[in-house]
Amino acid sequence: MKTFEKILSIIVPCYNEEESIPLFYAETIKQESLFHEKNVDFEFIFVNDGSRDKTVEAVKALREKDERVHLVSFSRNFGKESAIYAGFEKANGDFVVLMDADLQDPPALLPEMFENIEKGFDMVSTRRVTRKGEPPIRSFFARRFYGLMRKISSTEIVDGARDYRMMTKQVRDAILSMKEYNRFSKGIFGWVGFNNKWLEYENIQRAAGETKWSFWKLFKYSIEGIMAFSTVPLSIALVLGIIFCLFGFGFMLYFIISAAVSGTYVFDGGTIVSSIAFVGGIILVCIGVMGLYLSKVYLEVKNRPIYIVKEEF
Ligand code: UDP
Ligand code: MG
Repeated sequence: MKTFEKILSIIVPCYNEEESIPLFYAETIKQESLFHEKNVDFEFIFVNDGSRDKTVEAVKALREKDERVHLVSFSRNFGKESAIYAGFEKANGDFVVLMDADLQDPPALLPEMFENIEKGFDMVSTRRVTRKGEPPIRSFFARRFYGLMRKISSTEIVDGARDYRMMTKQVRDAILSMKEYNRFSKGIFGWVGFNNKWLEYENIQRAAGETKWSFWKLFKYSIEGIMAFSTVPLSIALVLGIIFCLFGFGFMLYFIISAAVSGTYVFDGGTIVSSIAFVGGIILVCIGVMGLYLSKVYLEVKNRPIYIVKEEF
């Protein structure tokens, strides 16, 4: 068997993807000859993120045909972020590319991505320019989320950016050095820096199986993103607190002055009730925000592993 000079590791997080895996492999391997011409060989790293279907069997079936197929199988579902991290740790390649199993990340882009790496880019990222085939309400909230992120985080987080990225070993190592437990890859990729090149493509529908993201899961994911890459919500609490203190102080002055001027003091229960509710609300909001961050700090200091492996080859 011919040996190649360099290796491209293809990392594929899989959660209930038994149907997609064979399709994914068949499509991706079509690009191989172009890479062989450049003396680069493929290596597949499938990360089974606690699937409840026959994902592991599907990977084993590929392994029988192809020695370069590897598997990391988690003891339960740890989430895509953990799967990405595990894949990066396992990757031996000189270059690494991250792809979804459902063929929504078109393998046909691989050669173009690699050309840009050859040109000297450290990372090549992709973004969808359309959200065709996605429920409109989801697109709407997704756009609001990215708009908000741009305003409140100093790390660049791009609308439509996929996790479909190719990078050099150096970037991979930088990403692995970020060992935080609450991971938000879209932010991490931007945070590490390096020269990045964006490629654009139209949205593609899933090849098989179903999306693993319910609206609720996406909502939680966006909160994760905001908290991992912005501390603005913490300062919102502070700013609100200051505004309402000034407000209360103004009212006090007004009452004192009007009482002094008119010589009578009108005691209005309504004002008191509403201001108590008001202030109480602010305090609860502030405590809530602090609680959110505190829970993250709590998880972080516990220093739990990002994933637990049950089986690998
Ligand atoms: N995925 C995962 N763990 C999860 C959810 C998803 O590893 O908890 C994988 C999934 O198998 C797929 C990729 O992440 O390869 C993207 O998921 P999906 O296609 O469901 O997301 P969408 O494309 O709808 O945003
Ligand atoms: Mg998908």
